[in-house]
This record gives sequence, structure tokens and C-alpha cells, in this order.
Amino acid sequence: MAVTESAAPGSAVHEGILLRQSARESAARTYARALPIVPVRARGLTIEGADGRRYLDCLSGAGTLALGHNHPVVLEAIRAVLDSGAPLHVLDLATPVKDAFTTELFRTLPPALADRARIQFCGPAGTDAVEAALKLVRTATGRTGLLAFTGAYHGMTAGALEASSGAQDVRVARLPYPQDYRCPFGIGGPRGAELAARWTESLLDDTKSGVPRPAGMILEPVQGEGGVIPAPDTWLRRMRTITESRSIPLIADEVQTGVGRTGAFWAVDHSGVVPDVMVLSKAIGGSLPLAVIVYRDDLDVWKPGAHAGTFRGNQLAMAAGAATLAHVRENGLADRAGELGARMIGQLQSLAKEFPCIGDVRGRGLMIGVEIVDPEGAPSCAGAPRTTGLTGTPGIVDDDDLSADPLLGGPTSTPLPAAPDLAAAVRDACLDRGLIVELGGRHSSVVRLLPPLTITDEQAAAVVDRLADALTAVARAHT
Ligand code: PMP
Repeated sequence: MAVTESAAPGSAVHEGILLRQSARESAARTYARALPIVPVRARGLTIEGADGRRYLDCLSGAGTLALGHNHPVVLEAIRAVLDSGAPLHVLDLATPVKDAFTTELFRTLPPALADRARIQFCGPAGTDAVEAALKLVRTATGRTGLLAFTGAYHGMTAGALEASSGAQDVRVARLPYPQDYRCPFGIGGPRGAELAARWTESLLDDTKSGVPRPAGMILEPVQGEGGVIPAPDTWLRRMRTITESRSIPLIADEVQTGVGRTGAFWAVDHSGVVPDVMVLSKAIGGSLPLAVIVYRDDLDVWKPGAHAGTFRGNQLAMAAGAATLAHVRENGLADRAGELGARMIGQLQSLAKEFPCIGDVRGRGLMIGVEIVDPEGAPSCAGAPRTTGLTGTPGIVDDDDLSADPLLGGPTSTPLPAAPDLAAAVRDACLDRGLIVELGGRHSSVVRLLPPLTITDEQAAAVVDRLADALTAVARAHT
């Protein structure tokens, strides 16, 4: 059978692998459903499938590939470890490779944290590092409760899932994350963020709020899976003040925002906020699995073995990660991401004027979201997609026009309902045009762009062109 397969033309191999995948893999598989690609070769932004088709990859392993696929410095670092005869598996023992990784990582951290930092190597997924962070602050404070935000995503293991916004857990108090387009207070901008901060403050100080003093607050400086929503720097600073003055550890989940992606090495750097704990994964492993938490030394009161695990010493990932961190730092790739991202966001905002189905374009650096909406739907604050004809049903907004309410000061925008089907059509049309994008956001209606920081100006222009072309085709088909 193998002989027949390898002799078959590329497209037959491609079809065969996809068929076997859908027959054999779990119903819970995710990206593979929307992206029927069989990658066989990749370099930088480009992936080549078994059928010979080439794609521009703006998913980048869900934001993992800061330097794109198979960057030479990453390959060289991996080869150097392989050629050195160093052991590949060492549990959490000290090695020169780990030592070099830790030194490089500490070099990039906010200095006030780096000076007093401890690092815990975790199981290799971001979610395990989130678990470690929660355990750390619960042990250090002796408290159990947690403050987390609407729209949050922190991973798929039990504790991380509780902290994420899909869950309902009595130990987690859910706070409003500021957002302009679908501001829960209807006003967005600095005033919307201020109201969100006040709500947080009052929950903590109102003795009858029902929220006991928590063990920590966990937040993403830019929500990724929640729909690419950057937190304003002023709001982030408010969260720092609110937590610090109440001795509540602040955990910044930089799993997706780290390593230059948002235009600063760490997204908290934009605001100058120094968290007590940072959760890091994805790009820190230079495309291989690696996850750590770094935290201030006075929190380091948990016991030996408090967070153990077999796979916490991936030498290849540490070497690839150290090379990636150094390359981003030495080549100013965070600044480059900031500049290019701002340009791409500007171009996409111009595009939004042509396409009524684009409700909002937002992002920070090369973490960009295009929210696809239903141009004919009634305004909907939370974005619930249109269902047919039943007024008064949850998710359907009645005729009252809140934008006219003088008490609200008038919203900055009138958000239209999310359009998940249209967004899926845009994603598929992108794929037809050789552009890989994925959807995120509350109603899976935000097209997300997470290109590598190494993307060239020409490639960025090609990405915007292909997306525009896909939007044109979808808009035509839906009118
Ligand atoms: N935190 C954030 C902010 C994330 O974006 C993700 C993954 N998308 C995670 C945690 C979980 O990481 P992993 O999938 O590696 O467990």
C-alpha cells in the first residue's frame, strides 16, 4: 500500500491522507476541519501541500511561529544540539542548553521582574503553565478565588478552562474586558474601559459583592481567541494598581502575545506594567513545545514537586527558543511587527469602507482581527448572530435605538450582529486563494491574522490583496 501511495500523484496522496484522517482521528479535531491541507514543506510564511499547492500561512501555528516556518537560525540551533551528543531528555535537570535559554529569556523580561525572577519549566503546553500560575498564586496567598475576564482563553486543562470565558466556576469571578466595538456599556473608548475598571474595583471593595478576596487576577494583554481585542494601556495600568494595592498577584498570560508579536517584546511592555507572574509558551520554543512561568521570587513558596511533569526539559525546544528570542531581540523584530501591523491594520480599515460586512478591524502589531458582521442585521451589543424572525428572543435586539440615549453619551459605534457563516465563507475563499487564516472571537466571526514577524512588505501586501479578493467573492455571492 505504501508503494502505491508514494507512486500516486500528489493530489491522490493528499486526498488519501485527508480521507484517512477524517476516518481515524477524533471528532474533537479542530483546525484540520477548516484547513484541508497536508503540509509537506514549509519555509517562512509559505507552506506547500502534498498536492503541490502553496499557501501564505497567516495562522503560524496559532501564533507560535515568530520567525515563520523552518527559520535558518532555528534549524541551526536544533542541529547544533543534535550534533553535540547532548541528551534530549533530562526531566528538569540543569543543562548548558537550559542555562542559555533561561539567560536569554531573563534578558528580555521587564527589568523589575527579571531582577527578582524565578522560572518554573512546565509541561510543554501553554495550558500547563496556566495551571502552574494558578497553583503558584493560590499557594502563595492561601486564597482560592480568581479574577478572570469575559472573552478570556487560557487553555484546555481544568483550571485553565475555568479561567476561560466559556466556563462557569464558582471560584472565578468574571469581569468585563474593555472593548470598543462591542463595549458592554455601549460607549467603548477610554470611558468604556474606565467603567470596566470601576466595576472591577467595586467588586473587590464592596463587602457584599459576593466576591471574596481572590488569589490572583489573570488577563491577556491582547485577547487572542476572544477575537483579537487589545486592552488599552491605561486600563492595564489600572488593573496593576487595583491588584497591587490589594495584594492580589497579577498574572499576565502572554502565551500568544509574547516574543514581539504585538510590537513590543512582551505586550505588557507597551503599558510599562510589571506583572507578578508571566505565563509564556508558543513562540518561546521557536516552533517546538515549551512552556514556562516566570514570577517574582517572594511568590516562590510552593513545595518541591508542587508542579511536576515528565516533559519539562525539551532540549531542542530550549535551543530553538533561545535562538528565536535572540533573533527577535537582535533584529528589532518587535518594532518591525508594530510598524508593519499598523500599516496592515490601516489598509484593512480602508477596505472596511468598501465592505459593509466588515464590522471592525483591530489589533496590535501582527495580531490582527477583522470582525465579519451581518450588514442587514439589527444592532447587537454582544454580537449574537441573527436568528430568523422571532423578536423578543434572546439575541434579538428590539427596535429601541440605544445610541440615542443621552445617558450613555452615544456609543462610538453601532455593532452589527456577528456573521459566523459569512466569516467561514471568507476563510474558505482565502484558502482557495492560497491564504491560510483562522476564525476566532465570541461567535467565530473574527478573521485572525497572525503572520510571522519576518513577513516582508511584499508578502504583507499579498496577504491583504488575497483577503480583499476573498471578501469581494463572498460579498458577490451573498448579494
Ligand atoms: N493562553 C492563551 C492566551 C492562548 O492563546 C492559548 C492557546 N491559544 C493558551 C493559553 C493555551 O495554550 P496551549 O494551547 O499550548 O495549551
